[in-house]
Amino acid sequence: MMEQASIAEESAPAEWTSELLKVRQETPTVRTFFFGRPRLPWSFQAGQYSVLTLPEVSDPRGSSRTFSISSAPGDRDALAITTRLGPSPFKIHLFAMKAGDRARLWGPFGTFVLDHQRAAVLLAGGIGVTPFRSMVRQARQDGRHAPIVMLSSSHTADELVYGEEMEELSRAWRGLRWLPSVTRPHDGSRPWAGRTGRIDANLVRLETASLEQPVYYLCGPPAMVGELHHLLVREMGVPEPDTRTELFRGY
Ligand SMILES: Cc1cc2nc3c(=O)[nH]c(=O)nc-3n(C[C@H](O)[C@H](O)[C@H](O)COP(=O)(O)OP(=O)(O)OC[C@H]3O[C@@H](n4cnc5c(N)ncnc54)[C@H](O)[C@@H]3O)c2cc1C
Repeated sequence: MMEQASIAEESAPAEWTSELLKVRQETPTVRTFFFGRPRLPWSFQAGQYSVLTLPEVSDPRGSSRTFSISSAPGDRDALAITTRLGPSPFKIHLFAMKAGDRARLWGPFGTFVLDHQRAAVLLAGGIGVTPFRSMVRQARQDGRHAPIVMLSSSHTADELVYGEEMEELSRAWRGLRWLPSVTRPHDGSRPWAGRTGRIDANLVRLETASLEQPVYYLCGPPAMVGELHHLLVREMGVPEPDTRTELFRGY
């Protein structure tokens, strides 16, 4: 009982002023921002999100945005969020921030978390890959998850978010099969010799045939998640209760 109480306490939302520790360029348009975590006790579950506020920003959509946490709970050194540069004053300010700058963070929130007992099929629409990075990093650190198959797609090879990291992770760890696909292989500056085209029913059927009653996790901009959900439930006959969705409203 004591242990349960302490887990609940550590996962309770907190709000804190945080320092930007470092920034990593993921693709030409996507960056990961590593912020300081609050002082203990605080934690989150892989797949949850936080709210980032840049108080000095004047933006018609406000000075806060919701972002899935892309680092794992076990990454004790920082809390990461990953996002694409856009035209909003919020994004322009965020992408101009330097190590040492401050922001407000509030979280964790959300129920988009893995069922560790069942195989997982992770379907990412574009930037929707962010909570999946947290999930697979944590599953590897814990070493106790059922098999994970992750399908993600991008227009070009250079816009594949976490491409090298997932490649390395899936080579080093048999628990993850990572299946990237590129829809415009000849555009962009990096050559692509891998799988091409959109995620479709044939691909999902083929790559998940060996999994026993997996749970399907769908994440990304609402239109993409809507298409993927239609594909699974209407075209493939996946039972609705076996799907979980996270919509990146705002895109
Ligand atoms: C649970 C949850 C998790 C999320 N996780 C992530 C995540 O991990 N990564 C991520 O990138 N996003 C995530 N999002 C979405 C995020 O919160 C933002 O809504 C999104 O990044 C768009 O940011 P932005 O409003 O700054 O617009 P931008 O990124 O600058 O632009 C996005 C689109 O909005 C249009 N737009 C921007 N500003 C305006 C304006 N003032 N008027 C009209 N149109 C405008 C642009 O033309 C563009 O088409 C998440 C959302 C939710 C709800």
